[in-house]
Amino acid sequence: MKYRNLGRTGLKVSEIGLGSWLTYGTAAEQKAADECIEAAFENGINFFDTANAYNRGEGEKAMGAALSKYERSSYVLSTKVFFPMGEGPNDYGLSRKHIMEQCEASLKRLGTDYIDVYFCHRYDSSTPVEETLRALDDLTAQGKILYAGVSEWSAAQITDAVQIADRRNLRPLASNQPIYNLFERYIEEEVLQASEKGGLGQVVFSPLAQGILTGKYKPGQKPAEGTRGADNSVNQVINSYMRDDVLTVTQELNGLADSLGLKLSQLSLAWVLRQKGVSSAIIGASRPQQVSENAAASGIELSEETLTEIERIMEPV
Ligand code: NDP
Repeated sequence: MKYRNLGRTGLKVSEIGLGSWLTYGTAAEQKAADECIEAAFENGINFFDTANAYNRGEGEKAMGAALSKYERSSYVLSTKVFFPMGEGPNDYGLSRKHIMEQCEASLKRLGTDYIDVYFCHRYDSSTPVEETLRALDDLTAQGKILYAGVSEWSAAQITDAVQIADRRNLRPLASNQPIYNLFERYIEEEVLQASEKGGLGQVVFSPLAQGILTGKYKPGQKPAEGTRGADNSVNQVINSYMRDDVLTVTQELNGLADSLGLKLSQLSLAWVLRQKGVSSAIIGASRPQQVSENAAASGIELSEETLTEIERIMEPV
């Protein structure tokens, strides 16, 4: 496993990280969480991502329980704040009140004294950015968080936050967490550039498009039982990929990966990691074998010829 600095910080994160969205967070899934996290450590993964809102706190509890048997200094733990955690007017967003209260609640659920990277899960247009940045700065001074980040903020929002932090002498943001995979490339337009200028490293989510970029879903065939594609009631995003044109492209990509002696999951992750602004790709995994297969993508360099071939294959979608 190779490690990269998180943006302009000294923090080293594994090129492949592991997240808990949709995978861990009920009693029945604790076993899967434990096994996948064990496989992650065995493969050198040191970066684990969750959020307060994943199953209203249950995702954090599952991840905290699974991590409790490892030395705290041996891993980097991130969680997030923004989405509703209750029905009240202050139970969501990025106000100082909600951030302070949720940080305490996350620490309890995770069973830890500090969060390594605390992400603002979305932009909150109803709270002044300075209020949010100051709350994050205070949490850092209190040692409850070590670094702060944002998730799915636009280039303009990132630039604005960077400038405010600079003007007010507040600690700079360390990271942005956007979606990025072969089908979702919007960050290439502006976000990567704005982040690089501001010193934020990308921690990209859904790098396998929720499993589509493993090649396991085939055109004209029903998804196999036990896959996220078969149980698509929980999130609608995967449905949008379940089209014959998209799945045909993944089969062609699969052929390319095969010719290189790689799994498509590894080719897809190596493609994401070719961007130097990307600090880590956060995968999900329901089984430990997926963790080891995906972790092996770290360090794979794709040739110019392969990158050109990927662009050609992707053209129809
Ligand atoms: P991926 O694109 O990596 O999809 C993960 C799913 O794909 C797995 O749960 C598994 O599903 C399948 N899969 C993974 N590897 C393999 C493999 N080698 N072979 C076959 N199937 C495989 O990422 P996610 O969409 O799960 O997102 C990852 C993390 O990113 C989340 O856990 C979360 O921490 C973060 N995230 C952040 C968001 C944000 O707004 N900031 C939003 C979404 C995610 P199965 O086996 O069930 O088919």
